[in-house]
Amino acid sequence: MNKATHKAIETELLPWFAGHRRAMPWRSNRTPYRVWISELMLQQTRVDQVIPYFNRFMKRFPSMKSLAAASQEDVLKIWEGLGYYSRARNLHKAAQIIATDHKGRFPNTAKEIIKLPGIGSYTAAAIGSLAFNLNLAVLDGNVIRVLSRLFAYAKDTGSSAAKKELQQLADTLLVPGDAGNYNEAMMELGATVCLPKNPQCQRSSQVRDADCPLARVCLGHESGRPTDYPVKAPKKKVPHIVVGAAVVTNRKGEVLIAQRRDTDMLGGLWEFPGGKQEPGETIQQCIARELKEELGINVEIGDFLITVKHAYSHFTMEMHTYFAKIKSSHPRSIECQDFQWLKISDLRRVPYSKADLYIIEELERQVVP
Ligand code: SF4
Repeated sequence: MNKATHKAIETELLPWFAGHRRAMPWRSNRTPYRVWISELMLQQTRVDQVIPYFNRFMKRFPSMKSLAAASQEDVLKIWEGLGYYSRARNLHKAAQIIATDHKGRFPNTAKEIIKLPGIGSYTAAAIGSLAFNLNLAVLDGNVIRVLSRLFAYAKDTGSSAAKKELQQLADTLLVPGDAGNYNEAMMELGATVCLPKNPQCQRSSQVRDADCPLARVCLGHESGRPTDYPVKAPKKKVPHIVVGAAVVTNRKGEVLIAQRRDTDMLGGLWEFPGGKQEPGETIQQCIARELKEELGINVEIGDFLITVKHAYSHFTMEMHTYFAKIKSSHPRSIECQDFQWLKISDLRRVPYSKADLYIIEELERQVVP
């Protein structure tokens, strides 16, 4: 490892960070609890999206004790719309473990932190360094981009061998005793200067004038083609699925919603019942079959309501939604965790995924005066 790079981290990057760090709610009044919640929210999610969720979460669950005592449904409701809901289920489980096994205090060693549900090596390093100043280096997408440009790293950064090498590089560059600042500075540089398509050093070909504190030691910058890094294998095309869903109404004007099983994707959230269209089926046939399988009811399909399109990390989906009425039998929880009838004006009491929230919006627009 280049000694000049190590020196530049201490003498250029850390002072730059001290003067450029953006204000974020979790950077003030820094406690292990606030660090933990913010780090989980920030996974796969942009800072500007996270800030209002973080503030609402802290208002509703200001302490580990209040989070451990809450129901999973209350936690999911606050998380609603943020995506990757296993993070919310896991943090709720972890709060209960911390309350019973650690007397309500967040564990302060890497070994104990990583045992908690939902905490992998990145989150353990982030919490350990930011909350307890443990000498642990983080490796997230921003850090991978900065490192691979700094060293003109030519291997596919999606491979596990490359991740291991980049982690070793991050560990070597870490400033002992100042790990929290080092990690945040690297991530901040990736988020604000070493941008994916437009690294700010490209604004000037003169290193002296480049808008990056690490330009003098950066091989990617020196090559004149920093955006050649990180090297990534071409993305695989994600599958597209077509789903049918129903707004089943009864004589009282209530709507039937089902709760997804905890073990399923989006587990614990509520939804308008339905499922994936099978080959050769019309959407109406798909809805009728799914409602029979999920809730044991025979339905008559009515008018079309809305088509919702949504992209998840590993597939895209279009969901065609129709009104329906029960022809025979009563709902039972067969392939769902629970079900309930709610007035349209009460639907928002429980948590849903984004796609189902679009259906509620449309129902409120069309049906509620
Ligand atoms: S000099 Fe350019 S490529 Fe290198 S770290 Fe800075 S912004 Fe990124």
